[in-house]
Amino acid sequence: MRVLITGGAGFIGSHLCEHLLGHGAEVICMDNLMTGSLDNVAPLFGKAGFRFVHYNVSNFIWVDGALDCLMHFASPASPVDYLKYPIQTLKVGSLGTLNALGLAKAKNAVFLLASTSEVYGDPHVSPQPEDYWGNVNPVGPRGVYDEAKRFAEAITMAYHRYHGMQVRIARIFNTYGPRMRENDGRAIPNFIVQALQGLPLTVYGDGSQTRSFCFVADLVEGIYKLMTSPVNEPVNLGNPAEMTIRQLADAVLRIVGSRSQIEFRPLPEDDPKIRRPDIAKAHRLLHWQPQTSLDEGLERTVEFFRRRLTAD
Ligand code: UDP
Repeated sequence: MRVLITGGAGFIGSHLCEHLLGHGAEVICMDNLMTGSLDNVAPLFGKAGFRFVHYNVSNFIWVDGALDCLMHFASPASPVDYLKYPIQTLKVGSLGTLNALGLAKAKNAVFLLASTSEVYGDPHVSPQPEDYWGNVNPVGPRGVYDEAKRFAEAITMAYHRYHGMQVRIARIFNTYGPRMRENDGRAIPNFIVQALQGLPLTVYGDGSQTRSFCFVADLVEGIYKLMTSPVNEPVNLGNPAEMTIRQLADAVLRIVGSRSQIEFRPLPEDDPKIRRPDIAKAHRLLHWQPQTSLDEGLERTVEFFRRRLTAD
């Protein structure tokens, strides 16, 4: 199997590259390194079947030879990143997806889109099933990511309906694990780095907003199962164990063994109040569900950040 992964040097992309190589696939990893990093794929250089291409997929893409699958993971994905790069986020979700679909069509490859729970916006339904259409502010600061991904889903389904292409849409909920950037801005890396450095943990709002966090190894297994399934429609992938952000902060303090204080900061605009995946569809169609507990996943992630901070 020969697979192209856009955004392959990113957090999830790099775990996917590794997972696919482990399944004997040949992997072409394409990334412009805007939010991804060569450090994430450094251990893969020199492995048989791995190739890195430095490229921005918002421009026309081509690779030589056959492709069995194209997995489109390129995009800023942390709210801090997509607020910093709003136009690039819109471009990679729209033009990047169009280019990737065009290449997949030319190669007769299965196309897998990394979509997001952000398509549900600030949801009025919980947990969120795939047939919930969402509550998104198109012109708010998060709209650049949410609408880009909603457009990406729409054009992916159009290629399926009008060209008969094989497509997969993974709606990825909050994911964490080794290789997140320490300055990525998301709750888990922020809290872990703050706890390790003895700094206050910055909880936005009153911390009563909820999220459901999935360990990256579980997610990657779900993506692999989706890719190798025949399911041409969106599937939620995430861990349904929902908690408040305040509870998350307490869990990080406990696992790190830190006595850092909690410091409350203003809630970002349009920050969703609740988020929890309904994974009945993934369970039914892919026989998938997450296996890693929050404590185990946090321990592995804390270990990664400990090493990274001492290496700096
Ligand atoms: N958050 C927080 N402190 C931080 C970073 C994030 O309280 O230092 C909150 C954020 O406001 C949101 C939740 O944690 O309610 C998850 O944020 P994250 O950026 O990790 O992901 P999101 O689900 O918003 O994309």
